[in-house]
Amino acid sequence: MPYCQSHCPLHNHIPDWLRLTAEGRLREAYDLSARTSTMPEICGRICPQDRLCEGNCVIEFSGHGAVTIGSVEKYLGDNAWKEGWVRPIEPGPATGQSVGIIGAGPAGLTAAEYLRRAGHEVHVYDRHDRAGGLLIYGIPNFKLDKSVVDRRVARIEEGGIHIHRGVEVGADVTLSELRERHDAIFVATGVYQSRELTVDGADKNGVIRAIDFLTASNRSGLGDEVAAHADGSLLAKDRNVVVIGGGDTAMDCVRTAVRQGAASVKCLYRRDRENMPGSRTEVAHAEEEGVEFLWLSGPASIEGGERAEKVQANRMQLGEPDADGRRRPVVDPSSSFALDADLVILALGFEPEPLPAIFGETGLNVDQWGTLECDENMMTSLPGVFAGGDIARGASLVVWAVRDGRDVAEHIETYLAAERKPSAAAA
Ligand SMILES: Cc1cc2nc3c(=O)[nH]c(=O)nc-3n(C[C@H](O)[C@H](O)[C@H](O)COP(=O)(O)OP(=O)(O)OC[C@H]3O[C@@H](n4cnc5c(N)ncnc54)[C@H](O)[C@@H]3O)c2cc1C
Repeated sequence: MPYCQSHCPLHNHIPDWLRLTAEGRLREAYDLSARTSTMPEICGRICPQDRLCEGNCVIEFSGHGAVTIGSVEKYLGDNAWKEGWVRPIEPGPATGQSVGIIGAGPAGLTAAEYLRRAGHEVHVYDRHDRAGGLLIYGIPNFKLDKSVVDRRVARIEEGGIHIHRGVEVGADVTLSELRERHDAIFVATGVYQSRELTVDGADKNGVIRAIDFLTASNRSGLGDEVAAHADGSLLAKDRNVVVIGGGDTAMDCVRTAVRQGAASVKCLYRRDRENMPGSRTEVAHAEEEGVEFLWLSGPASIEGGERAEKVQANRMQLGEPDADGRRRPVVDPSSSFALDADLVILALGFEPEPLPAIFGETGLNVDQWGTLECDENMMTSLPGVFAGGDIARGASLVVWAVRDGRDVAEHIETYLAAERKPSAAAA
């Protein structure tokens, strides 16, 4: 079993399509890559290959440097679009059953594609005005050009999948109404509740959440008029920016701030470089672009008047391992320093929104982290209501959302097939 393939959540046939590519058989190579993935050219762009396929390649282990699998995957997909080799979605024979999907992110869109191919009527509901989830409003344009997402969304709609934009489940329609309308439901709402900073001054003007900053930037890139850019409240231009956090969202924020013309961009992270959750490649890119990293540093307070002017920070040391085995950062009380900061971006991670309350369904069980509890068939505590992607596994990766969308479609199909049997027998 090639390690690149076994460490890919989709188990993409990587060695086979690399060989086909090397032989110049690009159409076959693309077809093979599309057999296991609904969005290969998107994963090729934004998967953390250094932690997945490329990072686990035996050639990488032997010190020779893995083949750039992600770049080949991206090239195959882009070339297939250019050549007209990307096949339309062909619906199977109509089953007369319909599925409602809540959330048009990679999990929801992937499930929609497979379920449509199985012959179901598929309706996707999303509270945003555009489909794509974090592919559109989270991940920045410089990592994932939005036209790449839009052409996948267009193909999905051309395949007869109905996308209802601007529909918030819990406000515009209830889950129980959707359950009456459809034979099965897939909840793929992602995780959007930002973890907050609890130090003094965290409520000052100029302290903003990463998701708001990135959404505004993506909207602006898509040509929308963004009031928070016009008034400067979510814009880094000419500002001294401090991003707090060490994950991929923090990396996206620092690199977006550089592109917006910030006066300076610093990243404050409480652990060291070796123990940060974000991709090493992203850190290297950010450093090349002039971002300064302050490792082993945590915020103590935000200083200033009504508006933030400085971040007062402490040096940290790594103490005993916590329950996850990661060494816990502890404050070094003898060290304190201040950073000029009139824009402080909080990138401390995301938690699930309280879905049972939002959906008005107390019978929808969540675990201690607020993610939806599912059985081995990805079904929640409500019969016929399935869940996957970030809302079931916690903040994760696009490739895992695609995997969940693929898996849940199979489980929903099994569930619906069992529901179909009585009427088929009667006929
Ligand atoms: C800033 C940022 C950068 C990232 N970068 C990467 C990266 O480079 N590579 C990578 O692999 N992963 C990355 N990720 C993670 C990745 O984007 C997610 O793991 C993935 O998008 C999860 O897919 P999903 O379909 O579960 O949810 P989402 O993509 O979050 O989609 C959920 C959708 O549900 C909708 N929704 C939510 N609630 C409701 C409701 N009540 N009614 C109707 N609609 C609703 C939302 O509007 C959204 O469109 C990043 C995440 C962030 C935040």
